[in-house]
Amino acid sequence: MAGSCLFCRIVAGELSSRRVYEDDRVVAFEDIQPVAPVHVLLVPRRHLASLADLTPEDGDLAGHLLLVAARLGGELCPDGYRLLVNTGEEAGQTVGHLHLHVLGGRRLGALG
Ligand code: 5GP
Ligand code: ZN
Repeated sequence: MAGSCLFCRIVAGELSSRRVYEDDRVVAFEDIQPVAPVHVLLVPRRHLASLADLTPEDGDLAGHLLLVAARLGGELCPDGYRLLVNTGEEAGQTVGHLHLHVLGGRRLGALG
C-alpha cells in the first residue's frame, strides 16, 4: 500500500515536491494545484489512509500535526488561515494518505 501511495512517495523523495517544512514525523509541501495563494499539504511520514485510521495510540502524532499546521498557518498566513482535512470519498478525499490542507493568503469564502 505505502509503496504505491502518492504521498508516501513524496515523503520518500521518490517524487519531487516543494517542501516548506519537515521533521522526524511530518512533511509539509506545496499543493500541486493550489486553490489559494498559500496552499500547503501537511502529512505524517507514516502511512495513514485518513483521519479514520487514527487510533488512541496516535494521539501524540495527531497533536503534533495540529501544532505544526498551526505554526505553518501563522507564519505563512498572518492574517488568518484555514485547516481542512477531507475524510472519505463523499468529502472529496482524493489521495488516500492523511493530509491537512493549510489554506490562506486571500479572503476565504464560507464552507459549502
Ligand atoms: P484531497 O482532495 O484528497 O483532500 O487533496 C489532495 C490534494 O493533493 C489536492 O489538493 C491535489 O491538488 C494535491 N495533489 C495531488 N497530487 C499531487 C502531487 O503529485 N503533488 C502535490 N504537491 N500535490 C498533489
Ligand atoms: Zn501513504
